Amino acid sequence: MVYKKLAIATLAVLGLQMNSYATEKSHNSDKADAKTESHHAIWTYEGKTGPAHWGSLSEKYALCSTGKQQSPIDISKSTKTDLPQLEFNYNPFPLVIANNGHTIGVVTDKGGLLKIGEESYKLWQFHTHAPSEGTINGKHADMVIHFVHVNAQNKDQLKFAVVGVYLEKGKTANPLIETLWKVMPKTASEEPQKHDIQIDAKQLLPQDKNYYTFTGSLTTPPCWEGIKWMILKQPVSISAEQLAQYHALYPHNARPLQPLNGREVLSSN
Ligand SMILES: [Zn+2]
Repeated sequence: MVYKKLAIATLAVLGLQMNSYATEKSHNSDKADAKTESHHAIWTYEGKTGPAHWGSLSEKYALCSTGKQQSPIDISKSTKTDLPQLEFNYNPFPLVIANNGHTIGVVTDKGGLLKIGEESYKLWQFHTHAPSEGTINGKHADMVIHFVHVNAQNKDQLKFAVVGVYLEKGKTANPLIETLWKVMPKTASEEPQKHDIQIDAKQLLPQDKNYYTFTGSLTTPPCWEGIKWMILKQPVSISAEQLAQYHALYPHNARPLQPLNGREVLSSN
């Protein structure tokens, strides 16, 4: 049941619970067990519990300050490499949306797969930050969506792959954002809300799927590392009104940039 605890803890730290996935059973290590105590220290995006202090709020958050592969990063230098295409085999799924006090996010166990060459990952949840976490050539986007995937093949070892899609304020509103913002909970709660609506996460993806990739971390405590990050190069447009609606709840929920520490960023084109 270690896996169950790990999954629940992971979802709690990612901020979004999804119990069905957590019922999968598996074996895992003591390391995992050590990460899964039910108590979580409170953290925020500013003040005494803000990003500069995350690493000292709890022993479990130590990586936030001692880690060498932390996210987000600035991408200004990258190496063009022959990388596999990203295949988003997402399915429409029933909307379950949460406001956990850190972000607005959507959870699913029926979202379909992301395929990266031979590897496949299940879409697990996606959530939002404003401004973007991470920059390209030093420039933030207005928002970013993080699509969090977990490996579909080997459940004995949790492996995460996160795809970042930048949102820029433009002329066009995004139809899925329209749907999500209409029902997003205005106050924070542990409980995600279920709705009788099918959503298609593909509506949040740009047409061009070229990407940057690097190894990084969760951008929230406990800042676990070894996560495969992919940042799509083409942004998606949202309207000024959609951005303002998000800012009314979350004007700033982005972790500051972290040092590269010699990591290489690869580029698909
Ligand atoms: Zn995120």
